[in-house]
Amino acid sequence: MSFTLNDLPLRDDLRGSSPYGAPQLDVPVVLNTNENPHAPSPELAKALADAVSDAALTLNRYPDRDALALRGALADYLGHGVTTDQVWAANGSNEILQQILQAFGGPGRVALGFEPSYSMHPIITRGTNTEWVAVPRGDDFAVDTDAALAAIAEHRPSVVFLTSPNNPTGTALDLDDVRRIAEAAPGVVVVDEAYAEFRREGTPSALTLLEEHPRVIVSRTMSKAFALAGARVGYLAAHPAVVEALQLVRLPYHLSAVTQAVAVTALSHADELLSTVADLRAERDGLVDWLRGEGFSVADSDANFVMFGLFEDRNRVWRALLEQQVLIRETGPDGWLRVTVGTAQETAAFRAALLRATGRR
Ligand SMILES: *Cc1c(COP(=O)(O)O)cnc(C)c1O
Repeated sequence: MSFTLNDLPLRDDLRGSSPYGAPQLDVPVVLNTNENPHAPSPELAKALADAVSDAALTLNRYPDRDALALRGALADYLGHGVTTDQVWAANGSNEILQQILQAFGGPGRVALGFEPSYSMHPIITRGTNTEWVAVPRGDDFAVDTDAALAAIAEHRPSVVFLTSPNNPTGTALDLDDVRRIAEAAPGVVVVDEAYAEFRREGTPSALTLLEEHPRVIVSRTMSKAFALAGARVGYLAAHPAVVEALQLVRLPYHLSAVTQAVAVTALSHADELLSTVADLRAERDGLVDWLRGEGFSVADSDANFVMFGLFEDRNRVWRALLEQQVLIRETGPDGWLRVTVGTAQETAAFRAALLRATGRR
């Protein structure tokens, strides 16, 4: 007798939904989840191991529940006058987002976002029994502020998601638009800045809005520019009252002593970890130019990935790349694909594979 998911007392609203699922395939060129392609140096690995070794001597005790040392180091890193009591940290920014929904969403409440955008926003929203409202972006993938204000007036969301630079399009938001949305929104406005460090020169961060807007939350991560996806560390900057709210829903001791030690040590080596960002930005700009030169449509990118198209059958192109050992992501609006910026060699492998996959060479 076969027993399946359908035989379990699963919540009605979860029936028929799918888990987050970027394929994890073992191929030589992995350009599908926007990681930094550069691994920590052996010296940094040694420093991390020493920090873990010290933490190991205290593992009989619960860790610092409030992660004060880590939050202080993150505040220093962010600058903009951000203080420790304005910072909160968790196991990836996904946990940060979940805690935000636990505190400010819930049954009878709405979270609103602008699609195409990060697929975890609706997944986390629904997982916390919150209603998801999607407002479409314009043809240039920007948020249409008038449409945004109209949707906010109609749905009165307790959480608004803005992603800047946006995933999967790479589009950064104008701060004036964020300001207008923050002024109109009745609840919290989460600016997901997972890719902030890859912004092009002159693209501002919403950190500059925190002073005037106590309901704006800027969410960041160490998974992308910081090259620390495996450690699972995300964080936010917001008014201290927001941090107090999240402390009502977080699990006690959610951040292990090992995670805290690794993150604090990584932050003390921030210069080294971020030293590849300038190269990756240059590689990204070169890739955008090259794709356009080959006649592809390409969305402007302030992130470490590029969305390009247009393909009548994008799945065929995705598979043709995979057959050549290059894994990218089949995501975004119909006809588009997304590729993460890798090392120069990885990007070269991608270019060659794409030319063959599309019959250009
Ligand atoms: C990758 C990504 C994150 C990061 O998630 P972590 O849980 O911190 O690894 C958050 N938001 C967006 C838009 C992303 O693309």
